[in-house]
Amino acid sequence: MTTPSPAAAADFAPGRPIVFRNATVLTMDEGHHVLHGGDVLVSGERIAAVGRALEAPADAVEIDATGGIVMPGMIDTHRHMWQTAMRGYGADWTLSQYFVWYYLQWGKSFRPQDVYAGNLLSAIEAIDAGVTTTVDWSHGLQTTEHADAAVDALEEVPGRFILAYGNIQQGPWEWSAAPEFRDFVSRRFTSGNDMLGLQMAFDITGGDEFPERAAFEVARDLGVPVTTHAGVWGVTTDAGIQKMHEGGFMTPSTIYVHASSLSADSYNRIAATGGSASLSTESEQSAGQGYPPTWKLREHGIPVSLSMDTSVWWSGDLFSAMRATLSADRVREHMEAHAKNETVTNHKLRAEQVVSWATRGGAAALGLAAAVGSLEPGKKADVVLIKNDDSPVMVPLLHPYGHVVFQAQRADVHTVVVNGRVVKYDHRLVGSDLGKARQAVEQTVEYLQGALGPEAWTEGMHPEIPETRVVHNPYTYTYNQGQAGQPGA
Ligand SMILES: [Zn+2]
Repeated sequence: MTTPSPAAAADFAPGRPIVFRNATVLTMDEGHHVLHGGDVLVSGERIAAVGRALEAPADAVEIDATGGIVMPGMIDTHRHMWQTAMRGYGADWTLSQYFVWYYLQWGKSFRPQDVYAGNLLSAIEAIDAGVTTTVDWSHGLQTTEHADAAVDALEEVPGRFILAYGNIQQGPWEWSAAPEFRDFVSRRFTSGNDMLGLQMAFDITGGDEFPERAAFEVARDLGVPVTTHAGVWGVTTDAGIQKMHEGGFMTPSTIYVHASSLSADSYNRIAATGGSASLSTESEQSAGQGYPPTWKLREHGIPVSLSMDTSVWWSGDLFSAMRATLSADRVREHMEAHAKNETVTNHKLRAEQVVSWATRGGAAALGLAAAVGSLEPGKKADVVLIKNDDSPVMVPLLHPYGHVVFQAQRADVHTVVVNGRVVKYDHRLVGSDLGKARQAVEQTVEYLQGALGPEAWTEGMHPEIPETRVVHNPYTYTYNQGQAGQPGA
């Protein structure tokens, strides 16, 4: 290795200062300053200095970041971590199939230990990919035993997490009114703990009576932000936004997940009340919530953060989220221009902006902007080094934002620091028990395979494919008219 001094996890004793040397540093401060040949010094839980040729304490661990990019830890504002236990199972689903499988058929089969297993694996996956803060949009909490299991897992992994408490098996006005819920909140959360936060997670689907009002009132009473899937095609609509607004429940801490199928009026209400949108572009593109709305949010001045939604379909890293989001915005721009017989000559959305959404955008959405989201002295030290000396993709490093978005991937995450603690070094996790998570997930999968039985298990993974009819082609006179499938040879 090219690392000058340490190479072992043992060198990262808690409290020992850390200095990254000679990196391209994306500070993601307000001016988005970039330092070439820069250093970042971490002392205790915080960033002590960012600059060139920094003086470091004699006992500091030096990490050679030559050829690499040092940036703030990434922030995922919406991830159903419990669903990581079924990683990849729903790769070919639509949103309807997802709802049938989790909400109607099998979500209630998940036991507390299954929520624990998914969360543990997902939490480790997050920090491994440089996602230092993750909102666990935990809507599988049928009981507070499930909720305790979710938090147990989050507390075992040295990342920063926010439990967004939810329960798809009950109306939010039911579970939020239960004394056990209040008891759970007071048992597991203390104010001022920026390693484990709390939100309430529910959607507005209860109809004209707006029964969700009661849950919003509980959230207000507890001082807990609400996160809600909004603008999901055919599921959550403008009517829900209107009810929230009229009830006075739209606040700067409210997060609107997807926000993709909404009217201009709803976007105006979101913008005017200071809330933000959490985009899961891979999700919106594939499941069908609506076109990823960055181009509309831009017009309304609505702040954006990024998320990946669920590993039952997609990747759990924000490199994919940044890449998909930038691409989707550009596709939209090109298609709109082509429809007018015009050509886009300058893209509106830049790589720099999506890196900002993945870092400081997430921090702002979560009310953590004073603590994380940028590399500035005094902030909590959540730091990622992207460096891979074995990869041909690390050279040349010309456009650092473009490099992060379109070139780098999770395997290039060399070092991750959370709250001043090294949790990954030299591409290896430090202080997380992946073996334990693997075993827990294997047990969950085995249990669920038994609960579903082989037929439902296979059917769930392989939904029917609608018939595709090959169009009539006037240039192929051998085409067998009226038959689906391949034209005749
Ligand atoms: Zn979601």
